[in-house]
Amino acid sequence: MRCPACLQSGLEVHATRQGIEGWIVRRKRGCPACGETFITVEILGEELEELQRAAALFEAMRNIAVDMTEPSPQKRSRRRS
Ligand SMILES: [Zn+2]
Repeated sequence: MRCPACLQSGLEVHATRQGIEGWIVRRKRGCPACGETFITVEILGEELEELQRAAALFEAMRNIAVDMTEPSPQKRSRRRS
């Protein structure tokens, strides 16, 4: 991993926090070269795939919700008649 500000490698880890299940880890990192600090998240590959599936499902649900709140032109014309 490289510093997002100056692209130097050799970052320091200032703090590590584990999620409840232990498969997700947040690290506060610092760059000794430029002093930038930032947070990284590590996640198991298989859990990431699970999250991607959940995100796709969420997106599909959100699209359905939008369909219901914005009536289609056919529904509007039916209501008028
Ligand atoms: Zn840096």
